[in-house]
Amino acid sequence: MVLTHIEEKMPQTSLPEHDYRLMAHKISSDYSEEEWGNWKWHVSHTIKDLATVEKLLGVKFSAEKRRSLEDTIRNFPMSITPYYFSLIDPKNFENDPVFIQSVPSAAELNFSCHDKEDPLAEDVDSPAPGITHRYPDRVLFHVSNRCAMYCRHCTRKRKVGDVDKTLSRDDLVKGLEYIKNTPQVRDVLLSGGDPLLLSDSMLEWLLSELKVIPHVQVIRIGTRVPVVLPQRITPHLVKIIKKYHPVWVNTHFNHPREITATSIRALRLLADAGIPLGNQTVLLAKVNDCPRVMKALVHKLVENRVRPYYLYQCDPAQGLSHFRTSIGKGIEIIENLIGHTSGFAAPTYVIDAPNGGGKIPIMPNYLISQSSSKVILRNYEGIITAYYQPEDYHPPKCGQDCSACNLELDLNGAAEGSLVGIARLLSNHEDTDYLVPTECDRMDRRKSGYDQIVTLGTSLIQHGKNSDRIYLMRLAAEETATLLPEMQSLAAENGYTKLFAKVPGDVKTLFEADGFETEAVIPCFYGGTKAGYFMGKFIDEGRKTEENAELLEDVLKVAHSKAGKALSFKLPKGYTLRKCTADDTAAMAEVFSTVFASYPFPIYEPEYISRTMTESITYYGIWHGQKLAALASAEQYPLEGHVELTDFATLPDYRRRKLAGILLHTMETEMKQKGFGVSYTSAVAESYGMNISFARQGYEFAGRLKNNTQINGGLKSMNIWYKCLKKQTE
Ligand SMILES: *Cc1c(COP(=O)(O)O)cnc(C)c1O
Repeated sequence: MVLTHIEEKMPQTSLPEHDYRLMAHKISSDYSEEEWGNWKWHVSHTIKDLATVEKLLGVKFSAEKRRSLEDTIRNFPMSITPYYFSLIDPKNFENDPVFIQSVPSAAELNFSCHDKEDPLAEDVDSPAPGITHRYPDRVLFHVSNRCAMYCRHCTRKRKVGDVDKTLSRDDLVKGLEYIKNTPQVRDVLLSGGDPLLLSDSMLEWLLSELKVIPHVQVIRIGTRVPVVLPQRITPHLVKIIKKYHPVWVNTHFNHPREITATSIRALRLLADAGIPLGNQTVLLAKVNDCPRVMKALVHKLVENRVRPYYLYQCDPAQGLSHFRTSIGKGIEIIENLIGHTSGFAAPTYVIDAPNGGGKIPIMPNYLISQSSSKVILRNYEGIITAYYQPEDYHPPKCGQDCSACNLELDLNGAAEGSLVGIARLLSNHEDTDYLVPTECDRMDRRKSGYDQIVTLGTSLIQHGKNSDRIYLMRLAAEETATLLPEMQSLAAENGYTKLFAKVPGDVKTLFEADGFETEAVIPCFYGGTKAGYFMGKFIDEGRKTEENAELLEDVLKVAHSKAGKALSFKLPKGYTLRKCTADDTAAMAEVFSTVFASYPFPIYEPEYISRTMTESITYYGIWHGQKLAALASAEQYPLEGHVELTDFATLPDYRRRKLAGILLHTMETEMKQKGFGVSYTSAVAESYGMNISFARQGYEFAGRLKNNTQINGGLKSMNIWYKCLKKQTE
């Protein structure tokens, strides 16, 4: 289809008419008059070699320049439509924006170390061939590998000219299937390559396939055809597109010089067909990095019913470093548009975040400051204003239940995706109150697998990969015979290497018969009178070997040498001690995560701590001013008559102030008053501090649990210390 009604008065190219005819003849000796208007002629006569560039510009490159350009073309091929080439001003081509965007430069081979082949990670976010699914409700669908002109600043440079062929229907069917099967997708963005290089029939097939998918509400076409091959926008093409409305077209003008009579006619055809038009500009050094050029561009666009949509910061793709500007340049351009010209003429300046983070809008700062009642703003002229916020504004509290809301909007039953990111934090119907980076050691520790607590019969056990063992917490004595084989098979199932149990004397022999050995004994464990045996069964004999046995012996020796030499229990000045409450859990979790690199229980979670508070654990803390400096807990077993003093944690800055000893003394005194028969603890056997603290306070050594507990990044042996509380009072 050839267009005949060309605007007579507008220059069609930067060349006078006879010159572009001359140029066409130079490109193709059998050029005939009406072919300039035929897009297929342009596609089949794209300029792909330097010799033609030289011939058309009437220049001869130096041998050196030629060699470097040939090199570039081997890496990143060249293809320029005769129409687009005709826009170059041959008298000043080196600085010509059209020349710079289309003719290679040796600078393309200077890769900077930050450049990436696939800067936007489109390939990894691809769930189906041709599809990039990055945002919740829309996908990018690469439907063509072809481009009429290879932009030198192409972000998909890695693929340009790779497979310079149209994708077959079969190739596209997989992408269509994905869209069909993904009901969240309401907006499909056709991209490429250039979708408008598909044949009319192929494009119609694709649009019709998309149109019948019920959840696809909008189709978008991203194309540079109106810029580099406007002849492609034929009445027939437009007739096809308008059948599948709503179809939006986004084009890609970068410089006012690209807006010619021919491209204006193409835009008019599209706009007259009711197709909303947008434009995406890439900010390019030496092409449009100037507020005046940009203002002229956006004015020409809106004059032609094209809404400037995005201004892109140039991506860090390989071969683009010479095109990139500072971000400041982009902000300066936007500063020169907002307020200075029509609001709809100012595009949104975005950086497409490397690694698939998506587009991030960047704006000059208009919000200067704020108080609880006022917001301070500045306008484009530099006038600074106070905006008073309403004093009695009560926002509707959204529980996503429209019947309970007086806004006239019933969205109940609407298909909504879940809230994402900051919007999720802001909402008051989602529980999320923090976002966690994927690289976060502390959170990784949480995920490393805490022990689960399960019942076997009426007995209670705890087991997990973390400490690599089963721990019998509460034994229903009559179940011993069935329990032992059950524990054994659970261990086999999970590959655990140790079983561990606290049991009274009357079942001790049954456990011994099963292979358990006594690791520690507390004579007053049950009710202050009956002995309790801490017994271990090593399924892997190797687990018995303590690599640091010498150190462990020394810790004990030192601890014993200080036995009974209690220090003062007086709090240093400025410190206070009290029981922790639910309000303290965040501070407590913070101290625990600072002190322990890993722990058998999720004490890094405030919710976990507050749950244990309602069960059987009382926490005691020492504050320095407002800051929680140290804490510990008393885990109480009233039925058994014993209490475990544990979870001792002192922030590094507060060590050597005997805070742990003071906590221990306080807790012990209170527990004794409550009537517990014994208090005991398990201290990491390799740590001098805690073992000495217990020895000083008159605790007796009950034995050592070998390689028993996952704590601070490894399996540790634990020393058991106890003090019979009844005996002392009797
Ligand atoms: C740009 C882009 C979109 C569309 O984003 P909008 O902001 O809606 O224009 C969708 N998917 C991908 C992968 C994109 O890069």
